[in-house]
Formats: sequence, C-alpha cells, structure tokens
Amino acid sequence: MKKAECPSCGSMVTMGSNTRMGQRLKCPNCRTELEVTWLDPFELDWIYDEDDYEDEEDYDD
Ligand SMILES: [Zn+2]
Repeated sequence: MKKAECPSCGSMVTMGSNTRMGQRLKCPNCRTELEVTWLDPFELDWIYDEDDYEDEEDYDD
C-alpha cells in the first residue's frame, strides 16, 4: 500500500497499487477532494478548477 500526505490536513492517505496520475480521491480525514500529481514518490494536491482560466485575455494595464 502506498501513502501520501494530504496537503490540507497533513494526515497520511493510503492509495491502492494501481493508482494513476491524475486520479482523484477524497481524504478520509478532512474529506478534501485531492488529485494524484506524482507517483514516485506519491504526491497529492488540491484539484484546481480549470474552468476559471477559460479565455481570460485581459491586458488592460
Ligand atoms: Zn486531509
């Protein structure tokens, strides 16, 4: 079993051996939705909503 630290609460989250990059899971401790950002070593990060960056071309300086 692989483990990674939850970036939100710092507790260790256990992942299965077939975990893939980009896989989403919920921290069992703080219930934050997380994404697997690296496999060796395992790293978890918050899920960023990519919809916020859609066609935002604002060059009005
Ligand atoms: Zn957590």
